Amino acid sequence: MLLHTIKEVRDQVKEWKKQGLTVGLVPTMGALHNGHLSLIKKAVEKCDKVVVSVFVNPIQFCPGEDLDKYPRTLEADEKLCNDTGVSIVFAPTPNEMYGNTPQRSNDFLTYVVPPFFYVNKLCGKSRVGHFDGVCTVVNKLFNIVQPDYAFFGQKDAQQLVIIKKMVKDLNIPVEIVPCPIVREASGLALSSRNKYLSEDDKIQALALNKILNNIKDCYKQGITDVKALKETAYNFLNEHHELEYLEFCDADNLEDVTTANDNTRVFIACRVGGVRLIDNILLGE
Ligand code: AMP
Repeated sequence: MLLHTIKEVRDQVKEWKKQGLTVGLVPTMGALHNGHLSLIKKAVEKCDKVVVSVFVNPIQFCPGEDLDKYPRTLEADEKLCNDTGVSIVFAPTPNEMYGNTPQRSNDFLTYVVPPFFYVNKLCGKSRVGHFDGVCTVVNKLFNIVQPDYAFFGQKDAQQLVIIKKMVKDLNIPVEIVPCPIVREASGLALSSRNKYLSEDDKIQALALNKILNNIKDCYKQGITDVKALKETAYNFLNEHHELEYLEFCDADNLEDVTTANDNTRVFIACRVGGVRLIDNILLGE
């Protein structure tokens, strides 16, 4: 069932709750691929009813980012959801979510602002205000759907840590279910933004996964010095890559790490053919 208004979703969820059914939420920006599908399947397995939100959230895009050209494929998304056993596809308009509020305006909108320590690194450094937009929309979705479980991908590992922190700090009654990264056979992590990549770019994009796997191999061989591990990345980079960051952080609290351990997550962001790609790996996995 495709619903566009908050009221329709609320009314339907109320009915389910009356019947004692468990509700799962999978928040997405649409252009669904097998990465999203893995979250959706897990939700369908675990919950009686599943809501997938499809909303390209304007307030999490920074000026100059790809808000206008972000792929929108609602018809195909709805079909995929229906075929997978999803009960509601919630696809609100920006106006339904934010009224006439000007985009990213702290003057007119109440924001949920995650702690500076968690956002002043990795993606948050270049995408200023991005995680305010994410936490605000996810918090709104939690209030609208009131899910028992919400499913998020490790692909966006910083986002996942920040969402868990928000849920804990604000006592939101939802269980966050992390889901592993889904990759193409080549190793490239699936992303809606891969649609922007040419065939050549796709080959160059494999460097991200190669760098992470190589670092993990070196770690398994006993190298724990982060400086030494970082240096191994340069073997995989060429003029097609614009490295934004390669960082080693504690997987749970994002603290910087100088000596790697099993709970260290390695995060990479790199532009390939002008497309910003991210990936990560947990060294202990
Ligand atoms: P997005 O539509 O990009 O906002 O992503 C919606 C959800 O799908 C987020 O929780 C992402 O982390 C998750 N996701 C996106 N790509 C992947 C992937 N390749 N593997 C696992 N989860 C993913």
